[in-house]
Amino acid sequence: MWRAPGRVNLIGEHTDYNDGFVAPIALPLGITARVTATTDGAVHARSVGVEPARFDLAGLAPGTVEGWAAYVAGVVWALAERGHDITGADIDLDGDVPHGAGLSSSAALECVVAIALDDVFGLGLTRDELIAVARRAENDYVGLPNGVLDQSASLLCRAGHVLLLDTRSGERRHVPFDLAAAGLALLVIDTRAPHRLVDGEYAARRRDCEAAAAELGMTALRDVVDLVAALAALTDERLRHRVRHVVTENARVLEVMGILDGGGDLRAIGPVLIASHMSLRDDYEVSSPELDLAVSAALGAGAHGARMTGGGFGGSAIALVDAASADDVTAAVTAGFAAAGFGPPSVFAAVAADGAHRVEV
Ligand code: ADP
Ligand code: MG
Repeated sequence: MWRAPGRVNLIGEHTDYNDGFVAPIALPLGITARVTATTDGAVHARSVGVEPARFDLAGLAPGTVEGWAAYVAGVVWALAERGHDITGADIDLDGDVPHGAGLSSSAALECVVAIALDDVFGLGLTRDELIAVARRAENDYVGLPNGVLDQSASLLCRAGHVLLLDTRSGERRHVPFDLAAAGLALLVIDTRAPHRLVDGEYAARRRDCEAAAAELGMTALRDVVDLVAALAALTDERLRHRVRHVVTENARVLEVMGILDGGGDLRAIGPVLIASHMSLRDDYEVSSPELDLAVSAALGAGAHGARMTGGGFGGSAIALVDAASADDVTAAVTAGFAAAGFGPPSVFAAVAADGAHRVEV
């Protein structure tokens, strides 16, 4: 049996598809898969809480399988595209990553299916190849053009560390991230307002970035070295805002890494998280009323920093708090949601967990 986790991104939102840096941690929440190889030319997939699915391998192509099983079919299809012959499989799934909460249940699903199929069919794929397969499933089968962050987090992260990944070079570093030793905690605030990325806003942001990079004559916004000059060169006001977010967010990833590497006070991360949230809210325009309230209520209750995490438009926020005030912050956010007429959020403390791994049956 294999298990692959969901994630929260500590910093570095919407930087991955701009060839920039990201810094996720894997969560203890994940999806487990028990996979048996068969030879009947079909995949039978079951997952707790959803309708079982069955699809044929012959003629498998984007669009032939819909609903949740599209994530499974996408992985099988991406493997076949690479020349790996899957003869059939029984796939049993169980998971505790909330769906659509911005904690990347979709990547957990793709990655656990990919690594379990790799194992039972003896394909011998590296983690990087599995990332490519899982990402292809989401991009080209399900149809969400996201970057490499979610699948990388699910397959590469290590317990007790934040993953610093350069999405252009693939270079990575596991940076020790021991909040508990510093008397701190990282709260995840799942607003329970589902994100609606497939509705086209994510793709629209991506197109904006590509248009801006093209106008600036660059491969990707990662290449902007002089932000003031880049902003002056752009004619479209909206693109200026998009570029400002990406460039400053990329710098914030390195700023947070500098704080972690420096071994100083981890509370210094807080203001960087706040700056990230304001940039995502005002320049990138991917926040939501629930996310803004989660952040402001957490800060009002003494959090050192807070920001939305994930693609946005709903989903989850994170808050860096003193461990001793975690309950107070949770209560304040919950009360704020009630006062605003929002449904109750789900708040829990995130611990940096291991990426995809084998589990005992
Ligand atoms: P997120 O990745 O933020 O959780 P997405 O919209 O990208 O949100 O992916 C959520 C979708 O992934 C669900 O709607 C469902 O189709 C699928 N999914 C996630 N977890 C599971 C699971 N345990 N079993 C079946 N499908 C799942
Ligand atoms: Mg997802």
